[in-house]
Amino acid sequence: MAKEINVINSKTKELVELDKRHFIHPTSAPKAAAEDGPSIIFSEGNGIYVNNMDGESYIDGMSMLWNVNIGHGQKELAEAANEQMTKIAYSSAFKGFSNEPAIKLAEKLASLAPGDLNAVFFTSGGSESNDTAFKLSRFYWKLKGKAEKKKIIGMQSGYHGVTQAAQSATGIPATHEFAGSSVEGFYHATPHLTNCELGDKNDPNYENSIRALIEKEGADTVAAVIIEPVQGAGGVNMPPEGYLEAVRKLCDEFNILFIADEVICGFGRTGKMFGIENWNVQPDFMSIAKGITSGYSQLGGVMLSDEIRDTIVNYDGVMAHGFTYSGHPTACAVALKNIEIIERDGLVENTKEMEKEMQKGLAYLEEKHDIVRNCRTLGLLAAFEVYNPETGEHLDPSLQAAATIVDECFDRKLILRHIGDFRVAIAPPLVISKQEIEKMIQIIDESITAFKNTL
Ligand code: PMP
Repeated sequence: MAKEINVINSKTKELVELDKRHFIHPTSAPKAAAEDGPSIIFSEGNGIYVNNMDGESYIDGMSMLWNVNIGHGQKELAEAANEQMTKIAYSSAFKGFSNEPAIKLAEKLASLAPGDLNAVFFTSGGSESNDTAFKLSRFYWKLKGKAEKKKIIGMQSGYHGVTQAAQSATGIPATHEFAGSSVEGFYHATPHLTNCELGDKNDPNYENSIRALIEKEGADTVAAVIIEPVQGAGGVNMPPEGYLEAVRKLCDEFNILFIADEVICGFGRTGKMFGIENWNVQPDFMSIAKGITSGYSQLGGVMLSDEIRDTIVNYDGVMAHGFTYSGHPTACAVALKNIEIIERDGLVENTKEMEKEMQKGLAYLEEKHDIVRNCRTLGLLAAFEVYNPETGEHLDPSLQAAATIVDECFDRKLILRHIGDFRVAIAPPLVISKQEIEKMIQIIDESITAFKNTL
């Protein structure tokens, strides 16, 4: 037994060294990655649990990157991929070529998506989906004889990906500072979001900062507004009642398209199949990715309203936009099975049920720890913040409170994510049970206590 553990450990060590030398990690500190190596190398997963190379089990409290909605180790998805790969793993969808899984998935998505979002353009992920939404909105206006409608308005603290246009739409300064690579034509309005320090909470006209931007730039030059129903990577910021409806009305008033970025919110995460369904809003475009396959394969897409689809299909020329992997048969087969499981196992309903447990757990933490405030939960998308109880302000950034609490959780075998200096996000797989949520809350409780003891 002891020998076996040594063998595993030496393999882990070797992998760590190879990782440090050869693997440039995404959204990571390169110096720390090259010097320290990875903190964990995943080897297996089952439900909400993931194992490291030494067989130690962790709770995946973030569904990795908010995407493993049906949980880890779901063999049916492996079987769906195997079946499709054995038949034909990949085929092109360019110029008259098609495949059965992509066609069936397109139809399935049309049946699930709100309102008349009945057509889809497939991509490989969220950034590509948003870039596609921007290009298609410009293309739409061009076909309508309004080629000057090109500008895109995003929100401060909104996150839309890291390809050049998606990153330009992203309202998080660090993504722009990294390579100074924003492209022109993207603007950021101040979001009037609850749980977010941006915006004037006393202004009842939530959409005013977007209106001001449209009026300044000229509605004739604005193609679309892009918005996450709930901001994810920017801080798990919930929109106040009426906000999304007001933005929709504003778009109608100025003839501007509404892009809902559902990359995190889609496929059950918020207790509805799509996040926007929590409000009475119909988007013109809807970007999807992540939960469409629960991360078992790389797939994204943009859904189009009938008006946009009908305008585009009237175009006689070639639409010069398409990815090698648009409509990838294996990815689409995996997505179909993933959606089947979400529906068959009642995972949207479970998410709504577990929302209550999460709220209960966070209320307990807020009651017990005077530094915990501003808890929010929609479905299984949740966060809390850490405050200085004496001043009522966030804890001093130099304390690195959120990062330390997340580290303490990791030491206790729970994976969470901190956003900035004082927010901790929680987004477990949608298969989670009441007992498992209680276990997570217990670990967070102990981790907050451990952090407080360092003060
Ligand atoms: N939009 C949102 C709301 C996201 O959270 C993300 C990824 N976290 C993206 C877009 C980009 O997706 P991807 O990383 O698959 O390109």
